[in-house]
Amino acid sequence: MESTIRVEKRQDLKPKPDQSKLGFGKHFTDHMFLMDYTEGKGWHDPRIVPYGPLSLEPSSMVFHYGQAVFEGLKAYKTKDKKVLLFRPNKNMERLNISNERLSIPAIDEAFMVEAIKRLVSIDREWIPEAEGTSLYIRPFIFATEPFLGVHASHHYIFCIILSPVGAYYAEGIKPVRINVESKYVRAVRGGMGFAKTAGNYAASLKAQAEAEESGYSQVLWLDGVEKKNIEEVGSMNVFFKVNGEVLTPALNGSILDGVTRNSIIHLLKSWNVPVVERTVSIEELYEASLNGTLEEAFGTGTAAVISPVGELNWDDKKIVINNGEIGELSQKLYDTITGIQSGNLEDKFGWTVEVEK
Ligand SMILES: *Cc1c(COP(=O)(O)O)cnc(C)c1O
Repeated sequence: MESTIRVEKRQDLKPKPDQSKLGFGKHFTDHMFLMDYTEGKGWHDPRIVPYGPLSLEPSSMVFHYGQAVFEGLKAYKTKDKKVLLFRPNKNMERLNISNERLSIPAIDEAFMVEAIKRLVSIDREWIPEAEGTSLYIRPFIFATEPFLGVHASHHYIFCIILSPVGAYYAEGIKPVRINVESKYVRAVRGGMGFAKTAGNYAASLKAQAEAEESGYSQVLWLDGVEKKNIEEVGSMNVFFKVNGEVLTPALNGSILDGVTRNSIIHLLKSWNVPVVERTVSIEELYEASLNGTLEEAFGTGTAAVISPVGELNWDDKKIVINNGEIGELSQKLYDTITGIQSGNLEDKFGWTVEVEK
């Protein structure tokens, strides 16, 4: 693979959005990264070009058979104007795990991190500075061979786009109400649950919409076979503090291996808080809520970092957690991770990676 990235800068820079009204994923920066794959030639022609529409054949295989994988991570601007990425190597490792599952050819992980750094550096003026804001980085790969036969595509595009995003909790952290989904399932073992792929999201939209209609903001997914054991919350991993011990579903093949999840497990261990990865049933949590030992619950993911759960609705049995307020440990985890990400707290684990000018 060529390691030199060609750069074609745009002349007419776009106006930047109002930093107080960023929202999530609505604005895109001046440039994007592209690289092509052709069978026989491998990944080639890495380039940074003006952000804009792509031209694809309607027969491109991604439209028909769904070979598409993605990642999500963030760049933060520190008080002294340094730019930090949070564990980007973990995301690129996971992108190759997703690639492998969907028969997409692997990409050199160090090279992908390099591509992210170059692109972020070129568009660094777009990184917002207000508390809680960041630049969301979306790397993704999709099949572009113009062919309707069913097999793995022989052509792909790897693209990276950047989006300045607002503070997730503009009005302070508020616990969410969650519906435990007992009709639809997100993934099954042997399927694609552990891969970050578009198809998993397509499968989740209807349950999410129905939860919203009933006044819940997210879905808690149960295992796809017996609908007994907890998997994830929406697009987040999930943790429960029960009787002083933190529980999270073990990575069993149908759960995504979140970078935030992994970081939280490391932090808890470093604080000597007992944390166990195992099968966790919804029945067990319901029992714990009845006997008063269910102390805290929270989802974890790049977008929100920590999303406290205030209430679970399981077939009309309501489980209220910590009076619907954020727990002490959830708050401490949130403050520590966001502190490390934004450069306000010491990074003892070596998680942040600086983007040079
Ligand atoms: C991305 C994602 C997560 C969270 O992963 P992070 O690396 O922590 O952002 C959890 N579950 C699903 C299904 C996801 O797609």
